[in-house]
Amino acid sequence: MISISRLVNGKRERSDEIRFPTSKDVYPKVLVFNVTRNCNLRCVHCYSNSGLGKFQDLPLSTWLNAVKQAAEMGVRHILLSGGEPLARRDLVEIAKEAHDFGISAEISTNGTMLTRERVEELKRYVSYVGVSIDGPEEVHDKFRGVPGAFKKALEGIRTAKEAGVKTGLRFTLTKLNYQYVDFVFDLMEKEGIDRVCFYHLAYAGRADVKLDIDNWTRLRVVERIVERTRENKEIEVLTADNPVDGVLIYAMTRNEEVLRLLRRNGGNKSGERIADVSPEGVVYPDQFTPIPIGRIERLKEIWDKPNEVVDKLRARKNYLKCSSCPFFDVCNGGLRGRALAVTGDLWGKDPSCYLEEIAKKYDLKLHDLKQPEAEFK
Ligand code: SF4
Repeated sequence: MISISRLVNGKRERSDEIRFPTSKDVYPKVLVFNVTRNCNLRCVHCYSNSGLGKFQDLPLSTWLNAVKQAAEMGVRHILLSGGEPLARRDLVEIAKEAHDFGISAEISTNGTMLTRERVEELKRYVSYVGVSIDGPEEVHDKFRGVPGAFKKALEGIRTAKEAGVKTGLRFTLTKLNYQYVDFVFDLMEKEGIDRVCFYHLAYAGRADVKLDIDNWTRLRVVERIVERTRENKEIEVLTADNPVDGVLIYAMTRNEEVLRLLRRNGGNKSGERIADVSPEGVVYPDQFTPIPIGRIERLKEIWDKPNEVVDKLRARKNYLKCSSCPFFDVCNGGLRGRALAVTGDLWGKDPSCYLEEIAKKYDLKLHDLKQPEAEFK
């Protein structure tokens, strides 16, 4: 993730220790638990192909055991996602287990099931709820495949906020909604929401490459996100799944402190600082890279023992097509799942890399730039 608000406004957050680490870790610090494939909506861009039928969830005991292993690994954040995680009646048990082990439990939800009753049972154990909003009501409902989804999501946001749960927005950029970035910032102001994360589209599940914006549009959209962030120094603004956003901020600011922070962030760390567990218990480097690295029952072993995919991801500079890029150390080659989906090669070029567009617009002389030394080995 790229913290736009930290880079352009200097706004510090609790999760900065994860985003700007000072040492290398053996285990991931963030795990995404896709605890179900069930969902009450049918979103056009669902990366997990959820909502199309009734799926058999893994038993609660399997997830509780995974939380225990995560605690032994020193995981700091567990992101409870799906499908729709609230479709599991026992979600609170997983959140409580994480909380009791000192792990921050966060929920990614479509917001429609955030009733007062569910919020009340969850609020002691959950440190953050991120609710997806795809644009104004009509656009959102079309995206989500169910009329009334926007109203319910907004109700859910208000309910969670009223109960004192930190609540923010999640917005996935696609061809169908990129023009609503301003709507998102306006909604935040109106509703008193102080956090948003913009996701670049990753081509997995129903999120087809054809839904994605082109790279010049991407540049303009992220510039707008930066402008709106500069106007409001109180909010936390992040982007996810495209570390090239950091290069854009450097190009816009030419601030060496920005570059230093980006180097500490190190760009994409799938399989290293983050990993994903699917509803079926298969462990992947992230939510979008369909290369299995192990099973939920032996989560910790994945990083304890030699693992071909993890080892290669750690040494990805030796394999990636763009490893000579002068910004490799702040990007790490972008999202592997997207490269794999388009080129068929896990080490291919991420098609959403918009470095060339940035270089043209901001007159970055890529050939004159040298790769910096790594901050820590
Ligand atoms: S060329 Fe590769 S390392 Fe450089 S910015 Fe693009 S994706 Fe990142």
